[in-house]
Amino acid sequence: MTTILIVEDNEMNRDMLSRRLERKGFKVLIAIDGAQGISVATSEKPDLILMDMSLPVMDGWEATRRIKADGLLKRIPIIALTAHAMANDRDKALEAGCDDYDTKPIELPRLLAKMESLLIATTAEERS
Ligand code: MN
Repeated sequence: MTTILIVEDNEMNRDMLSRRLERKGFKVLIAIDGAQGISVATSEKPDLILMDMSLPVMDGWEATRRIKADGLLKRIPIIALTAHAMANDRDKALEAGCDDYDTKPIELPRLLAKMESLLIATTAEERS
């Protein structure tokens, strides 16, 4: 089963997104801040991470930089989620090492398409 780690501090966003992904057949793991995100990523090796950027303890940019600097974790695709569609938000997320970027409120079909393309790319890479 494909495992998705959601790193999100807002309980309502977190619950809604995890329910919707579970309904699509994903196994969902949860972390509520950046530091916990790194520790769950390390112990569970999810297939993909959905990373809120504005997080307590450690923000999503720093958590992403650390995951992408870790040889055992860097292949896990990360999609940044931010609440505001500022042009430089996307650049900032990609600079931190995120593989893609999407904005909240979540449009599920759009997010699923981005998730699928990254999951297919990782699977192809692992087979080669
Ligand atoms: Mn947040």
